[in-house]
Amino acid sequence: MQRPTQRAYPAKRRNNNLSSDGLVLGAPKRDAELKRHLDRFLADVDPSAIAANDPVALVRPYPDPHDREVAGFLVAMLAYGRVASIKDNAQRALDALGPHPAKAVDGGRRAKKLDGFVYRFQKNDDLVRFLTAVRRVRKQYGSLGAAFVAQDTLGADYAEVMGRFVDRLLAAVDGEPSNGLKFLLPHPGRGGAAKRLCLYLRWMIRPDDGADLGVWQTLAPGVDTSRLVIPLDTHIARIARYLGLTDRATDNLVTAQEITSVLRRLRPGDPLAYDLALCHLGIGGQCPRRRDVELCSACPIRAVCRLGPEPKGWRRR
Ligand code: SF4
Repeated sequence: MQRPTQRAYPAKRRNNNLSSDGLVLGAPKRDAELKRHLDRFLADVDPSAIAANDPVALVRPYPDPHDREVAGFLVAMLAYGRVASIKDNAQRALDALGPHPAKAVDGGRRAKKLDGFVYRFQKNDDLVRFLTAVRRVRKQYGSLGAAFVAQDTLGADYAEVMGRFVDRLLAAVDGEPSNGLKFLLPHPGRGGAAKRLCLYLRWMIRPDDGADLGVWQTLAPGVDTSRLVIPLDTHIARIARYLGLTDRATDNLVTAQEITSVLRRLRPGDPLAYDLALCHLGIGGQCPRRRDVELCSACPIRAVCRLGPEPKGWRRR
């Protein structure tokens, strides 16, 4: 007897014009209006204050750009799950590398302290093999930034380069990569949004603004902020839909590219300037998952939100 086919998704297609709590989203605003309100919102934001609670805060204390590049890669690749556990576990891994992570990795010295390291999908062996691949790639190119630039195919954005960069790292791994190691290196070709890699690139490529670090501006001249792709997490995906930056229902790289392309129209040279502030509206609970009259009334971007000041389906509590 033929077994019924299992469905991965509900049979009913989701209406893309509904918010997560079922409210009807209005029409998106025109670019000029979006830009005016988002720029005003950005002008009132202090990136360094936001970044103090972000995993990038673990990377900034290293003064040397090579240390920041290596420490940043490790922290960004472990940046999944709750912020508190990311910070705890990434700090534990950094502590094992000592005060100069680049020297420790380049010299093949991975302190005994990494013994017993486990963080959800990663075990000690995954991390050691990951760091070995980093060492080999840095030895060949001089830095991860130079390795990234060497993979450039001069496309409109960095999506393809990201895939080639991960392929280069995976080629430097001894033997078959474990699932934990593959998870540690998100490949845009696997169907996800490769959020952690996009985040790492933002840290490395955007100039130092108190949050992003601009390390590759010196280690890998030629990197281009206009080609970055937004790190698409659940908060950015939700708020981007509220702002009409996308109507796509799936959180994948295509959606990230679509959101970025709208932001690129607003800021051609630096589309990700908006990312940190928008993301932290969600992380900080100022834009919750469900409509909240009080929070929405105080929201700095309510004028361009499709749930807006007078949304269809507004429910007063
Ligand atoms: S008005 Fe602001 S807080 Fe309310 S849903 Fe829109 S973006 Fe979120």
